[in-house]
Amino acid sequence: MSHDEARKIRLIMSLRGRGITDRAVLGALERVPREMFVDPAFLDQAWEDRALPIAAGQTVSQPFIVAFMTQALELTDRTKVLEIGTGSGYQAAVLARIARRVYTVERHPELLQVAEKRFATLKLHNLHSRHGDGWKGWAEQAPFEAIIVTAAASEPPAALLDQLAEGGRMVAPIGGSSDVQRLVRYRRRDGAIEEERLLDVRFVPLVRGAARASESH
Ligand code: SAH
Repeated sequence: MSHDEARKIRLIMSLRGRGITDRAVLGALERVPREMFVDPAFLDQAWEDRALPIAAGQTVSQPFIVAFMTQALELTDRTKVLEIGTGSGYQAAVLARIARRVYTVERHPELLQVAEKRFATLKLHNLHSRHGDGWKGWAEQAPFEAIIVTAAASEPPAALLDQLAEGGRMVAPIGGSSDVQRLVRYRRRDGAIEEERLLDVRFVPLVRGAARASESH
């Protein structure tokens, strides 16, 4: 067994020990090659349970948080999912291994380009990505049964709640750029929005507006 393979197994087992019980989620984390999504300088840490820096001052979340948020979305192979904040593309690839269709929006064109190359290499044909402002969601493809926001907003973006289907779940870190944010699950039930606090987390902020090429923050 390679060193990486042993680390991967150790990581998956530790996720199980921390309440990740959804087998589809564990299976997706096992199958998506995280080493393909990290900066080469951090390759040796690809299978550690750590957030790692990516380009444009952003980060790829730690595997536990990816698994926890994915599990909280309650996905099946029939679910249509929207992700806000493509970043490295890792979370999107995990979603694409479980759900029917995944749409992901990123404000940094450079990050998006690199992520799209990875999606092509992995032949993730049920994954669609575009450059844009995640605060606005992806109206043309709404409604979504699941929405995941991977950057912290000061409040749940109204456009995203509007694009949530009846019975749909949205998982988002709320708290803007403050030190502690809370991960919240919203659920649309009989038209109304229910709210459930899940965990304390730390994410980069959900910035307003799409960045132009070569803007570095
Ligand atoms: N899901 C990513 C994590 C990326 S970090 C992964 O698996 O790697 C958060 C991402 O959100 C960053 O790439 C950042 O550029 C992006 N982001 C921040 N504000 C945004 C906005 N308004 N619209 C779209 N993307 C945004």
